[in-house]
Amino acid sequence: MNCPYCGHYDSKVIDSRDVNDGIRRRRQCLQCASRFTTYERLQPASLFVIKKDGRREEFDRDKLLAGIRKACEKRPLASGAVDGQANEIEAELYRTGRTEIPGAVIGDMVMARLKKLDHIAYIRFASVYREFEDITMLKEEVDTLANHTIINSADQLPLIPPDVLVAPVKNQRRTRR
Ligand SMILES: [Zn+2]
Repeated sequence: MNCPYCGHYDSKVIDSRDVNDGIRRRRQCLQCASRFTTYERLQPASLFVIKKDGRREEFDRDKLLAGIRKACEKRPLASGAVDGQANEIEAELYRTGRTEIPGAVIGDMVMARLKKLDHIAYIRFASVYREFEDITMLKEEVDTLANHTIINSADQLPLIPPDVLVAPVKNQRRTRR
């Protein structure tokens, strides 16, 4: 890393500390003595999504986020809930250590999460992703969901997972009901 002030090629590290997902280094130029900071982060290996038609496409977090956001549109979710879902899925995907992953696997991951987060968002996502051909298929899915809710009501997670619950949002939600 060349010095941003004089362009000299060499610097010494005067401080180094771990930050969230990398290392922050405070450096001093060996020529002009200016100080600057560099961050070192691990570059995740590229992840490719295998599409239905067999084509491969580099994993695009924004695309994933857009899909989840669309399904959750106008649902009473805590701010950050949608981003949180996308972040967790992305992290989970990279944790698998795989370099290729079928799009269907990602779709299923989104569905599993939305099912716990918000049933309307889940149905919206499923209707696009599963390509419901008619209202019967949609009804079956809703019925399954409704039965599941009655039988396993104790298992149902709150609409907003506790980790994204923050006081102001909680109040907003109450007034909206
Ligand atoms: Zn310098």
